Amino acid sequence: MSPEVCPNCGELLPSRAKTCPGCGSDEETGWSEAAHADRLGLPDENFDYEGFVKGELTPSLARPRSIHWLWWLTALVLIALFLIFCLH
Ligand SMILES: [Zn+2]
Repeated sequence: MSPEVCPNCGELLPSRAKTCPGCGSDEETGWSEAAHADRLGLPDENFDYEGFVKGELTPSLARPRSIHWLWWLTALVLIALFLIFCLH
């Protein structure tokens, strides 16, 4: 089932149209602007750049913290082993 007017670009659509002749949107892409952007190979205007940057930065920020945590765990294990050997 197709809308009669493209919600993306407003192009009038043939009654059985499955793809907008104006912008290339179709049912599979949800008549979204992404279809147009993907077709042109351009980034979406709604591209979440901040999320993209955070997604890029988060691993490098989390990695030292996890290493730090692992070193603490290692130190605690070594202390525990040391105490166990001392108590024997
Ligand atoms: Zn359209």
